[in-house]
Amino acid sequence: MGPIPPGFAAEEGMLLIGGRGAAALVDEAGGTPVFVYDAGLIRQRVAALRAALPAAVSLHYAMKANPFPPLLALMAGLTDGFDIASVGELARAQAAGVPGARISFAGPGKRDDEIEAALWAGVTLNLESEGEATRALAIADRLGVRPRLAVRVNPDFELKGSGMRMGGGAKPFGVDADRAAALARTVIDAGAEWRGWHIFAGSQALDAQAIIAAQAETVALAARLSDAVGASPPLVNLGGGFGVPYFAGDAPLDVAVIGAALGETLVRRPAVLADSRFALELGRYLVAEAGVYLTRVIDVKLSQGERFAVVDGGLHHQLAASGNFGTVVRRNYPVALANRFGAPPAADPVTVVGCLCTPLDRLADAVALPAVAPGDLVALFLAGAYGANASPAAFLGHEPAVEMLVGND
Ligand SMILES: *Cc1c(COP(=O)(O)O)cnc(C)c1O
Repeated sequence: MGPIPPGFAAEEGMLLIGGRGAAALVDEAGGTPVFVYDAGLIRQRVAALRAALPAAVSLHYAMKANPFPPLLALMAGLTDGFDIASVGELARAQAAGVPGARISFAGPGKRDDEIEAALWAGVTLNLESEGEATRALAIADRLGVRPRLAVRVNPDFELKGSGMRMGGGAKPFGVDADRAAALARTVIDAGAEWRGWHIFAGSQALDAQAIIAAQAETVALAARLSDAVGASPPLVNLGGGFGVPYFAGDAPLDVAVIGAALGETLVRRPAVLADSRFALELGRYLVAEAGVYLTRVIDVKLSQGERFAVVDGGLHHQLAASGNFGTVVRRNYPVALANRFGAPPAADPVTVVGCLCTPLDRLADAVALPAVAPGDLVALFLAGAYGANASPAAFLGHEPAVEMLVGND
């Protein structure tokens, strides 16, 4: 399995999250399964990242990673802005106190009503195509507002080693680099407020050198495009792509190295970017490791010599841990027994399966845990991003999991 993230300890064998015992948190939630997010760990993560980044770089939260309202309110205070991908996310971002001027909206299928709501709110649209630009300009004209528009570029390079590639080759995201300058010119000539470039090359990279190389290429591309437009961009959104260690052999990113290299890149940036600001938009890196999914063992059974622990949760809450959310080969997320945290493992491995009637519902495959019995609490780590909100909660009619933010006082 992957490494248990730093910051988790136990008291008398009980896993602590935000300084509180897992069993007490389950009681407070009214039972299992429950997602618990530790605000203290998120604060530490953001502070360490800020310390590593150059001053010219803003930090944006990509809220699709985790849109739980109390967590959004926390992120609103910790980051410089939110990146959204729908009008539903816009409403949640505004409810969390993020003003429209600090929100940008990417996504390849923005409906007219979404564009209208975003323009009213003063949100920057990251334009995904020439067609979308035409619609946005027409809607702004009808509303009588000056639209804030950035051009999302499909870069002509990729973020190497990223779990999910979002650039390099034919993509539904952004405008190909060789047409991006012409589109920026069009929106400037139409009287829009041109906000600059959005260049997102990939996700879930754990190779610092690959991120450093992609950031340098991104800055160079932004400069080249800006020269072609003949205008300086107010903002260059450098994308994100910072990964977290989910699996055995994964090591955490060294953000000090990335921050220092980005500083060097920015010191040497071309003149056309001299007055530009830069932004990173990160989702999972900020929140994934702060979340734990707690689920209770209902049954322990043997089949042909293999031991199964059946829990009351499953892929309907935490699809990613089952290996069915963007991974090619199923591997184990870090897992532990919350009520015997740190105890030595039993001689035989155990496979943790969810309660759904599908062989896909496997949460941990042949892992070393202390002897498991019904009533035990299983903790699945890395549950702070793409968990509750990225799982098929309606599948098989179970209740959704409760979510809690702890350690926020
Ligand atoms: C999904 C997404 C992100 C966040 O990705 P993470 O891997 O969670 O950091 C950021 N920007 C865009 C445009 C995205 O689509």
